[in-house]
Amino acid sequence: MKTSRDALIIGSGIIGCAIAYELSRAGWRTLNLDTLPAAGYGSTSNSCAVVRVHYSTLEGTAVAYESYKYWDDWSGYLGLPDDDRLSKFYKTGILVFKSRANDNLEKVRAMLDELGLGYEDWDRERIAERFPIIDYTSYHPPRRPEDPRFGEKNENPLPGAIFYPEGGYVSDPQLSTANIQAAAEAHGAEFRYNSKAVEILKSDGRAGGVVLEDGTRFEAPVVVNAAGPHSFIINRLAGVEKGMKIKTKALRHEVVHLPAPEGFDFESLGCPSSDSDIGGYWRPEVGNHILSGSEDPDCDPQEWIENPDEFNRNLTDQAKAQAYRLALRIPGVGIPNRIKGVVDLYDVADDWIPIYDKSDLPGFYMAVGTSGNQYKNAPVVGKMMAYLIGRCEQGHDHDAAPLSFHLEHINRDIGLGFYSRLREINRESSFSVLG
Ligand SMILES: Cc1cc2nc3c(=O)[nH]c(=O)nc-3n(C[C@H](O)[C@H](O)[C@H](O)COP(=O)(O)OP(=O)(O)OC[C@H]3O[C@@H](n4cnc5c(N)ncnc54)[C@H](O)[C@@H]3O)c2cc1C
Repeated sequence: MKTSRDALIIGSGIIGCAIAYELSRAGWRTLNLDTLPAAGYGSTSNSCAVVRVHYSTLEGTAVAYESYKYWDDWSGYLGLPDDDRLSKFYKTGILVFKSRANDNLEKVRAMLDELGLGYEDWDRERIAERFPIIDYTSYHPPRRPEDPRFGEKNENPLPGAIFYPEGGYVSDPQLSTANIQAAAEAHGAEFRYNSKAVEILKSDGRAGGVVLEDGTRFEAPVVVNAAGPHSFIINRLAGVEKGMKIKTKALRHEVVHLPAPEGFDFESLGCPSSDSDIGGYWRPEVGNHILSGSEDPDCDPQEWIENPDEFNRNLTDQAKAQAYRLALRIPGVGIPNRIKGVVDLYDVADDWIPIYDKSDLPGFYMAVGTSGNQYKNAPVVGKMMAYLIGRCEQGHDHDAAPLSFHLEHINRDIGLGFYSRLREINRESSFSVLG
């Protein structure tokens, strides 16, 4: 069977759906293909879905701030009624601890100032008013529980934190992705599930379509790789990986769910928090739980995965390490004998900054390397990719003259060369999930 569309998008995670939404709004006939049975069932479904604004680069911070504006008006972004079919954004604000590891947030504060993003400086007393459960002892550098120096205290406690109100988290990342799918369908986008792409067709020296595992062929002049942790496989199928200076690979990550300290309503009062001193982040989770992940400190081993279809989905000692480190900061947290949580893959770029770009194969584009931190940015990624694809298909040479993109809510332009596959490693990056 041959079917014609203007663009085929491989992947229906939050990135693929956001691209479909913006292209279909611009009049493109799009079809998303996904191996899984529904939208957002891949790595998006296990995202912690923290919508924070602080990143280690100005571009990263600007895109995150612009994206926040869409989460804050989810129904307006989607053009759908604001009812209980939409996912909920909890606008709790974000707490980021100052520490030796982040130079007391000097760089982050300079970037927030530059973008006019309001934040408050909280000393320990102010933090304790809202979070009496916090212990301020500094333990830097983060260590593993098996390290004899685990829990060794530094002389000076943490000096405080910054708190910014424009942030929070989404309770159900899969539902938010289904919401974007519904919004895209309202503009004519199509989605096909249980459909694994196994070949990228080429014709006249450019992308020409996709062949599925069952032999079905779809033809289109534009193919977009939004395959998440499978992105490197799709790039290899298209034969474009050799032409990329920055590449992607899959990294396994664990997230733990722990009972909040007894007597403290963390579910209502908590907010996403980042703590470089213990190398972890956390946020409220239903059932008065605390969900906590690693910020990739040097002590945590990195488990790169060669086959993203086969990896250990059970929690390991890594979960215990994250739980024990969180217990240093929140001593009342519950640590059950059998820790619960989730395991999934990041699609990590060499410098932990995504690739939103064309490729050396005309008509083949990629929105990959989201490095464990681009759920929040999906609304803006959809817009940037639709713009980039539209301009390149009109003949613009984005490699020779990188496009810039206007972030309308914060009224700022960013150069899309920042996300180029041809960039040098960006040394400003944190080389971690912090981006
Ligand atoms: C544990 C964890 C915690 C995270 N926490 C946060 C956070 O707090 N905040 C934040 O902003 N980001 C976070 N992230 C990152 C964020 O979730 C991802 O950047 C984002 O969800 C990636 O979306 P995606 O659409 O690229 O990938 P996915 O959701 O993985 O979607 C890719 C899709 O492509 C499909 N696919 C793959 N290969 C094929 C093929 N051959 N044919 C057809 N379909 C194919 C897959 O089935 C999948 O559905 C986290 C990620 C993880 C894993």
